[in-house]
Amino acid sequence: MLKTINLHKKYNDFTALHSLNLEVKKGEIFALLGQNGAGKSTTINIILGLIKATSGDAFIHDISVNDHPQKIKQHLAYIPETVLLYPHLTGIENLDFFSKIAGFNYQKEELSALLLRTGLQETAHHKALGGYSKGMRQKVGIAIALAKDAKVLLLDEPTSGLDPIATAEFTEIVRQLGKEDRTVLMATHDIFNAASVATHIGIMKQGELVQHVPSKAFTAQELQELYLKTI
Ligand code: ATP
Repeated sequence: MLKTINLHKKYNDFTALHSLNLEVKKGEIFALLGQNGAGKSTTINIILGLIKATSGDAFIHDISVNDHPQKIKQHLAYIPETVLLYPHLTGIENLDFFSKIAGFNYQKEELSALLLRTGLQETAHHKALGGYSKGMRQKVGIAIALAKDAKVLLLDEPTSGLDPIATAEFTEIVRQLGKEDRTVLMATHDIFNAASVATHIGIMKQGELVQHVPSKAFTAQELQELYLKTI
């Protein structure tokens, strides 16, 4: 579903990514851990087509990012740490706007149903987004991904700055995405969250994937120990 082959990124003399080989299958949730600067966002941004790899390629459904950067976007949704939406529009208006950009025209009830699927309470749907909490904005971001029916979701530190309840809610949504056979690649510093939601864990160090383990083999504590030993 999502694959990188020898993905390499250089900034002048500095190598940000060293021949990264990664595979995330349908329904898998892959958490990428690593120190600041390890190369997690670079990986995500190359898959999104926002940064060009120096060499190597990424594939979604066997479609090359290098060869088909636009086509790739139909299959992808991106949830960054702060989802950028229009503050003066309501949640439902934002969802309508971004769905239309992606080529989908939903009825009001369908838009509302998408927001409800993410756990955004009905009372908030018609309120201006400027008054939403960070967790509520993340839910609208997920609803946009569902509206596009994106099969692959790229999440970059999605729980950073969320309170424990919002984090738990977000984690449940991500778990649900996996059950719907969507593929999730998530960069995170939250080892506890990664242990709880991910099916696979990768640890990056200085642009290299130095660990790749199934998460069910580890408790959160063991994963933290592995992380500290690796880093
Ligand atoms: P964080 O957890 O802080 O988000 P990260 O693992 O996502 O870190 P990246 O943002 O992928 O790390 O950065 C990888 C390395 O590439 C870092 O050392 C960063 O300074 C470097 N880097 C990123 N963008 C550029 C750029 N435009 N020019 C030069 N170096 C860059």
